[in-house]
Amino acid sequence: MSVRENLLSVKQQLPAGTQLVAVSKFHPIDVVMQAYDAGQRIFGESRAQELVAKVPQMPADIHWHFIGHLQTNKVRQVVPHVSMIESADSVRLLQLINKEAARIGKTIDVLLQLHVAQEEAKSGFAVEELLSVLTLGELSGLDNIRIRGLMAMATLTDDQAQIDREFALVHDTFSTVKEEFFAHDDAFDQLSMGMSHDWHIAVKHGSTLVRIGTAIFGERQY
Ligand SMILES: *Cc1c(COP(=O)(O)O)cnc(C)c1O
Repeated sequence: MSVRENLLSVKQQLPAGTQLVAVSKFHPIDVVMQAYDAGQRIFGESRAQELVAKVPQMPADIHWHFIGHLQTNKVRQVVPHVSMIESADSVRLLQLINKEAARIGKTIDVLLQLHVAQEEAKSGFAVEELLSVLTLGELSGLDNIRIRGLMAMATLTDDQAQIDREFALVHDTFSTVKEEFFAHDDAFDQLSMGMSHDWHIAVKHGSTLVRIGTAIFGERQY
């Protein structure tokens, strides 16, 4: 199947209200452009250097999402190029993103990344930690970021029931955070979860953004 056919097949299966982030990391421009030519406009990258190299080679009407762990010393490189940072995983990083956005006169969308997977290597706030950060008001007054919702990754496993439990927990946490801290903020409306192997499950749990690479572009050549 071609990139175009893969893309259209995924999009056709997504419920109304769920958007596709085409994860283009490690794929060359000519391949990524096939998705653009098929109508895709939101792309996800996970490394600052690759993002910065790709942006000028692709059309300007693309919305780039940063989805990987963002090191604090890469914030300045990334902020000008992206419409959303999905992987905000610490208060310090959010403060730095805000500071850099303010410096260049931009307001940037962010998602708070939640850690629910079993792998320790995955980053993000633990559920209790996130609730405590919000209760203490540690993210208030950051006027150049707009907190749009939560992002999470499930454990990489064949155990569907476990993935199901993890996405259910993310959705529960989203509802709690929305209700307790963003009830009057219409912009807090995004839940990013689901990748090539588990997006069908994520969608059942209310995902509004699925981040899909392999199922569209094929295996990555590292
Ligand atoms: C690479 C990546 C994806 C896409 O993974 P696929 O399995 O190729 O669909 C999604 N989210 C994040 C955070 C990623 O790093």
